[in-house]
Amino acid sequence: MVDVGLEQAFAKVRAFLEGDFEHPGLTLYDLQNLVGYNSRVKTDGPLSYTMPPEPALSGVAAVRLYYYPKDPEVNLIVEIEDKARKRHLRHFKWNGISWTAARGLKADLTATREVLPSIEEVGGDFFLGYASEEAKELAEAIRRGEAAGAKYMLCTRDNTRIFYAPASSPPAVPCPRCGNTNMIFKTLTLATPEDRIEAILREQRALRTALEDLLLYLKRKLGP
Ligand SMILES: [Zn+2]
Repeated sequence: MVDVGLEQAFAKVRAFLEGDFEHPGLTLYDLQNLVGYNSRVKTDGPLSYTMPPEPALSGVAAVRLYYYPKDPEVNLIVEIEDKARKRHLRHFKWNGISWTAARGLKADLTATREVLPSIEEVGGDFFLGYASEEAKELAEAIRRGEAAGAKYMLCTRDNTRIFYAPASSPPAVPCPRCGNTNMIFKTLTLATPEDRIEAILREQRALRTALEDLLLYLKRKLGP
């Protein structure tokens, strides 16, 4: 289920930020000019710029760049809105020479393959192909150490677990947290209940993700 238009748009944005054979990459100064930062009273931002329509972007609804002058962690958020009105965000920090990934946030300029039916997050784990209630029950069972045999994929980058319903064949789904496609297929064993600390860490991570989302939302809302 590759969204060709979305992939094209990501490729375009990547060339725009990093440069290609014809154009140099986007500098912080260029970005400031685009959003009008240099020509108006300084604000805390964000300031935005919508990329003009062109063939490479015809497969998406819009591409917007948000500039955050005062944020120590994130200077630029790229928002690609696909035809289904879903927003794909990538976060960058200017290091003086180029755009680098903002700490802990998604920055790879490739399209996330949009995934199958529902994917639910419960307590830091993801559940694919489960109804909401089932996902919650399974999460509880996992917590109690009573879910031996449950199949899941483990992200090799950040240890995110994606449990998938037995009915669905092992899906080729990227990690919903970091976009990594390198997954190890595993089965829960008849082990002791999940280590308490590990469970707490997992929940903390889920909470942090939720907070980051909320912060971004607020930044967007409170901007000028
Ligand atoms: Zn991951």
